[in-house]
Amino acid sequence: MKILKFGGTSVGSIESIRTLLKLVEEETSRGGFPVVVLSAMSGVTNLLLSMAESAVEGKGFSQQLEELESRHFEVVKALVEGHRQNPVLTKLKLLFNELEELLQGVQSLSELTLKTRDLILSYGEVCSTFLVSYIAHQRIPEALCVEATELIKTDSAFGNAKVDTDFTQRLIHNFFQVNPGKLCFITGFIASDVNGRVTTLGRGGSDYTAAILGAALNAEEIQIWTDVDGMMTADPRIV
Ligand code: ASP
Ligand code: MG
Repeated sequence: MKILKFGGTSVGSIESIRTLLKLVEEETSRGGFPVVVLSAMSGVTNLLLSMAESAVEGKGFSQQLEELESRHFEVVKALVEGHRQNPVLTKLKLLFNELEELLQGVQSLSELTLKTRDLILSYGEVCSTFLVSYIAHQRIPEALCVEATELIKTDSAFGNAKVDTDFTQRLIHNFFQVNPGKLCFITGFIASDVNGRVTTLGRGGSDYTAAILGAALNAEEIQIWTDVDGMMTADPRIV
């Protein structure tokens, strides 16, 4: 079994989602269903963070929320067949409403705990993974969206949680035993503590999610896909 992890740029546009799905289909026809780990759409984690910061400072966040919604809705309109769009738009709208309520809570209390911050950030991976798995499901009925909060258990160090490896390995084994023959799309970056509260694995943590799954499933390979023009000799954000 292979683990394929796709970062933010690989789920960040209509074109790159098409490419991602082509790669998953190619892998499926060669070696069976891979396990797919996804990040939030590019820039979305930062956007969520800045919304949370605006909220705690008592500033508005509706413009950013609109941006977030429209980035996801654009993908639905381009990649989901017309008659299947309603359920996915409704589910996304419900998630965005939940997020808005959370942010309103932060605004009224003028308080942003690390716990709440993790919950807010989790919407990035939850939305991207739901969306991409739904698109995949049109062609591959075995496609399944899995929230890693069900699979990866951590301590309660919100923001940079530490994984309980034994417990996590047991959960992952059980899950794949109960769900054989599925094409699982799994949220990167997020996990949960013993009380079921959402935690995160630190920025860029989706690579770590892929490694945790690869180790637990004894994967033959873990592929970390990214969307760049070539090999860079320096960080392109700096140089
Ligand atoms: N979305 C998270 C981040 O931007 C995790 C990841 O992309 O790996 O840090
Ligand atoms: Mg990364």
